[in-house]
Amino acid sequence: MRTYAEPPATFVRGQGTLLFDADGREYLDFITGLAVVSLGHAHPAVADAVAEQARTLSHVSNLYGNTLAPEVARTIDRLINGGTGQAGGQVFFANSGAEANECALKLARRWTGGGRHVVVSADNSFHGRTLATLTATGQPEKQAPFHPLPEGFVHVPYDNVAALDEALDAETVAGVLLEPMQGEGGVMVPSSDYLGAVRALCTERNALLMLDEIQTGLGRTGHWFAFQAQGLEPDVVTMAKALGNGMPVGACWARAEVAAAFGPGDHGSTFGGQPLALAAARATLAVMEAEDVCGRARVAGARLAQGLRRLPGVVSVRGAGLLLAAQLDAPVAKEATARALENGLLVNAVLPDAIRMAPPLLVSTEEIDAALAILDAALGAVVPAAPTTGGE
Ligand code: PLP
Repeated sequence: MRTYAEPPATFVRGQGTLLFDADGREYLDFITGLAVVSLGHAHPAVADAVAEQARTLSHVSNLYGNTLAPEVARTIDRLINGGTGQAGGQVFFANSGAEANECALKLARRWTGGGRHVVVSADNSFHGRTLATLTATGQPEKQAPFHPLPEGFVHVPYDNVAALDEALDAETVAGVLLEPMQGEGGVMVPSSDYLGAVRALCTERNALLMLDEIQTGLGRTGHWFAFQAQGLEPDVVTMAKALGNGMPVGACWARAEVAAAFGPGDHGSTFGGQPLALAAARATLAVMEAEDVCGRARVAGARLAQGLRRLPGVVSVRGAGLLLAAQLDAPVAKEATARALENGLLVNAVLPDAIRMAPPLLVSTEEIDAALAILDAALGAVVPAAPTTGGE
């Protein structure tokens, strides 16, 4: 179905930061399939784990147990704890980001026992494309063709505590669903005290704080989860994208008291939590820990951000770790990314005037410098020349 535009390139192979097309042409991948392939393409540890698991046991359904689900759930729980003193949560495994959020939305309704059902999310957010997650998504143009939308969703301006405070006055609110940094919305970083204030409001009004870390999670921003930079404790955290380094797997983590609202029969998934996907997740998380991807993302991100600030037409750089956007002084992001692709670099025009980058967390300094050189030439060719001063 024609749900995407014609692809500008087709790839047949990848290795680390590199992608190759059918002609053997090499590209630097600085978007990693939208923040998915965080360990780089065809990472040997993940590839071996998937191959070995495929030869051993791929799937039994959730009518039966498998040994990987509890193990990966415990690792996720430990990473979410990350020094905040919180632990002992529980995990539901899904196959995508939208499904991880769908679990969170259903859990919020179940947790209130049916009395409250509204979920408050932010303008400009992105939470997925299923009907419920599309409705939580704060982008009316994406929703427009699909009305009537499910009931029970309210939007407030992002990074605005007063607006959220007011929305939480409604007695029907069950929870708040927010990205700690808006990825699809343009890599929008809220004020450093925003999430803490949201936490305080949710606690005061007995609403769940649900954080969508589908894009920001698992080392991408220089922390296991972006919320950890603010030192707060969410009630629910969703993740997907990088969890399987390319194998489709998502997860919804919740504090044990919240997770306890679900009983047998309340939610499910045929594929969710199957051994094949979780073998990829287990291997991915093990490599991420061994390689200190959080520390690496911080160091590499600082170098990339510094280099971006010097490029033509770049007025500012926002984001954290290796989730960055270069803000341009003109709406030329599409032309610049097309030129970059022609010259062997994948980046993404997240807004008409902003270019998003999410390279592998193991990216080398040489690769960063090579990508900056390609982007320098691409931007130089498309940004309007600065007015010259003086003259003859
Ligand atoms: N939430 C966020 C923050 C995302 O960035 C995305 C995808 O870009 C999703 C949810 C949806 O994930 P998926 O496309 O795996 O359903």
